[in-house]
Amino acid sequence: MKKKCIALYSGGLDSILAVKLMQEQSVDVVAVYFCTPFFGADVLFDPEKHGEYHWKTYGIRITPYDFTEDIIDAVSGPEHGFGKHLNPCIDCKIRMLKRARLMLEETDASFVVTGEVLGQRPMSQRRDAMNLIEKKSGLKDILLRPLCAKHLPPSLPERSNIIDRGQLLDAAGRGRKTQIELALKYGIEPSTIPNPAGGCLLTDEQISRKIRSTFERFRPGKPARADIELDTAGRKFMLDENTVLVISRSEDENRFLASQVWPGNVFLKIADVPGPLGIIRGALSEENLRRAAALCLRYGKGRGTDGRMAVYGPDPQAMTATIDAPVAKEDFCKRFQIDLNK
Ligand code: SF4
Repeated sequence: MKKKCIALYSGGLDSILAVKLMQEQSVDVVAVYFCTPFFGADVLFDPEKHGEYHWKTYGIRITPYDFTEDIIDAVSGPEHGFGKHLNPCIDCKIRMLKRARLMLEETDASFVVTGEVLGQRPMSQRRDAMNLIEKKSGLKDILLRPLCAKHLPPSLPERSNIIDRGQLLDAAGRGRKTQIELALKYGIEPSTIPNPAGGCLLTDEQISRKIRSTFERFRPGKPARADIELDTAGRKFMLDENTVLVISRSEDENRFLASQVWPGNVFLKIADVPGPLGIIRGALSEENLRRAAALCLRYGKGRGTDGRMAVYGPDPQAMTATIDAPVAKEDFCKRFQIDLNK
């Protein structure tokens, strides 16, 4: 065995500590940051900025990995079901670890490390689920969970004396005391210790509802990346059964939507006034364009004023076509807004 591993890295405290525990034992760690529109999206958006942050703040070089197609597959039909919302945690973990297994050969590493803690998460970190994940990922015996290793049988790297088991931990449950103490011992600034909330949008009740309706609309097929990206920001409307309109609610969302240049997306905004950017995806009929223009006008600075025009086009830098933007009443807007309570 080589003193080199792949680590599943999420930027959360547990994964940071799992890497630090390995670095402390002089293990060469490839920290793979799995990213999708639902988690790690910021890293995909600006890998350099985030790479620098993790290096300067935690001394960890990250390797971003675009995991979007895997997570679309997992959400489409998880073999092991969903957690409380649309989070297929067991399938997600198995798929990440399978990817990591493939990377072992590419990187000449010998084992895989995660920041999992026994009993911390109800779905994927129960003992039986952890055993299942290890088996199904094909990593039996070469999966090391350094934060809770002392609750688990010694893995091959420990038995081969590549890793000193004595320096591994016995963390369990949801408490973070052990982890915070260790973070401080490693000199991590308290203000840079990540919050416990995981940040996976699939565990968010409201966003899960939007995403679920998108997956249902595409059954028996699957949505494309461009479809699910539109569920992660903005106000969402259905202009007809298959046509989505998303309107930004802030400058940040404007920037995010402007980055969504995919085939099939059409950008729209009210001409000559600052205001939200919209994306239409689906049937580009005159009726849908007019509806979208009315909704964009409703949520922008020109709200309630007659005689406005909307501009639209396949790229936010090339919105050259125009259409009238009628003034819309509240009832009209409500008709198209998706109901997040069901
Ligand atoms: S919370 Fe999200 S990222 Fe984490 S295992 Fe579950 S689905 Fe995957």
